[in-house]
Amino acid sequence: MSGDSSKHEGSRQLTVGIVGGGIAGLYTALLLRREGVNFHVFEGSGIVGGRIRTHYFSQEKDQYFEAGAMRIPYSKFHEITFDLIKYLNVKAGSSDRKIELINYVLNTKGNHLYVNNLRIDTGSGLVDNTTPAQIKWDVPAKYKNIPARELMLKAIGPYLERLKKGPFEEEFCNIIREVDNLSFRYFLQYPPKNAGRTENEGYPPSVIDFMETVLSQTNQYMLSVPELLMQNLDFGEPESEWKTINHGMSRLPEAMAALVTHDKITYGARVNSLELVKSEDYPNGGVIVSAVGYNGQLKMTFDKVVLAIPPAAIKMLISHPPWSPEKDMAIRSVHSEALFKMGMRFKRRFWENVENPSMGGQSTTDLPIRWVVFPSNGLGSDGTGVLLVYAWMTDATTWLPLTPIERRQLAINNLEQLYSGLLKKGEITSLLMETSDAIWSQSTATGDAMFLPGQFLNRFDAARKPEDNIYFAGEHLSFHHTWISGLQVRQIRQ
Ligand SMILES: Cc1cc2nc3c(=O)[nH]c(=O)nc-3n(C[C@H](O)[C@H](O)[C@H](O)COP(=O)(O)OP(=O)(O)OC[C@H]3O[C@@H](n4cnc5c(N)ncnc54)[C@H](O)[C@@H]3O)c2cc1C
Repeated sequence: MSGDSSKHEGSRQLTVGIVGGGIAGLYTALLLRREGVNFHVFEGSGIVGGRIRTHYFSQEKDQYFEAGAMRIPYSKFHEITFDLIKYLNVKAGSSDRKIELINYVLNTKGNHLYVNNLRIDTGSGLVDNTTPAQIKWDVPAKYKNIPARELMLKAIGPYLERLKKGPFEEEFCNIIREVDNLSFRYFLQYPPKNAGRTENEGYPPSVIDFMETVLSQTNQYMLSVPELLMQNLDFGEPESEWKTINHGMSRLPEAMAALVTHDKITYGARVNSLELVKSEDYPNGGVIVSAVGYNGQLKMTFDKVVLAIPPAAIKMLISHPPWSPEKDMAIRSVHSEALFKMGMRFKRRFWENVENPSMGGQSTTDLPIRWVVFPSNGLGSDGTGVLLVYAWMTDATTWLPLTPIERRQLAINNLEQLYSGLLKKGEITSLLMETSDAIWSQSTATGDAMFLPGQFLNRFDAARKPEDNIYFAGEHLSFHHTWISGLQVRQIRQ
């Protein structure tokens, strides 16, 4: 930082400014801390964590919902997250910062599928195993009795095998070259000749609509093929082990911030300007970072800066050094999908006390609430409980124009419909205590990175490249974006 007089082997120590106190910014800070590099973090809001945020309705046990990240697949692709938690737990010693992982139930028997005004009580199976015939979905006869998951695996199985067999990065790049220019919908309808499918025949649109409704959310299949391959790689094994953090995912960024130390973070400091300088103090160039917020107006100079904020936030900086044309295009264009969640607190966990109860997992519907996620914490406990509704893409954006009261009315109405015949009419409404909305389209991130066709091929490298002394980090720069494990930090060389 400007004026820093600490010396290192006769020269001034390297100083790094980190913009953003989400997982990527905090991870960068921990790496620099380990290397003994001088750094400072600017966080625009009053809390760390960004898209990892737990909303606590009350201090009573289990009365929270995950407004952002909520689950971590226990697979090699997410090793970085589990390693980070292990590291933090060692550093936490015996303090109450220790992070406790508990099982997360992704799907379970008893979750419902409610589509076309028909409810399938999957008492003995999983929602993914529903067939078009079961929900009277009009498809050609030969598809009527094929479960959704089987249709999916027939179409993408060979690609998933390639990614699993690896080497992952090499195979991912090969697959990008083959199919990134295609939307997933197009790919399902017109499979490439070398797709390795047992039947090389595409699915008719009615089958694709059925798959998207049961397995995904509206218009997700307009995204690029690699996005849906990655999604199925994570969600494709419904019985695999998943984890979440007891007492809330926010414990992860909070533990990181404690280790980084709060003195090294300025809260309420929204960075709005970056300027390159060259001076006696910065013969190799430096970067002036300016921020405004409730902590007043700040100006600090660093040797290097890491922008650990999403592309939408980079684009909206008031001033910055001119980006290269490729970088500018990448920042402007990489696609973020809208995400909407509503946490709903009830007087009792009614979903666990009906015929075919849902002990965790999620129900799926074509109603606006789309997914109803039942908590994996406090399973079977008495007293008040919290569930959440969760929508992606077009299913998320349609919630935005409503007022909070209208949103609550619609959600409760949809839940009544989902449980019609299982609970008395009006019962769920009378059990409702409180709701809280998480509208990620209105946050600085505008959602989570999910690329459109061609964006891995044409935008990804430029998005990751440093520009002068400015480096970039964040989930959108990882092959595995939309996950905590996508915290991507490019190497900074002195
Ligand atoms: C609804 C939802 C569900 C998710 N579910 C999961 C899940 O189950 N499992 C999983 O692993 N991942 C999940 N994710 C993804 C995961 O949360 C993100 O990939 C990850 O947290 C992104 O971290 P980041 O540091 O790249 O960005 P962010 O978390 O967005 O951090 C950026 C930070 O920068 C700050 N900031 C922005 N602009 C400025 C500025 N100009 N100046 C200063 N500060 C600024 C923001 O306030 C924020 O704190 C989910 C995300 C969402 C939104």
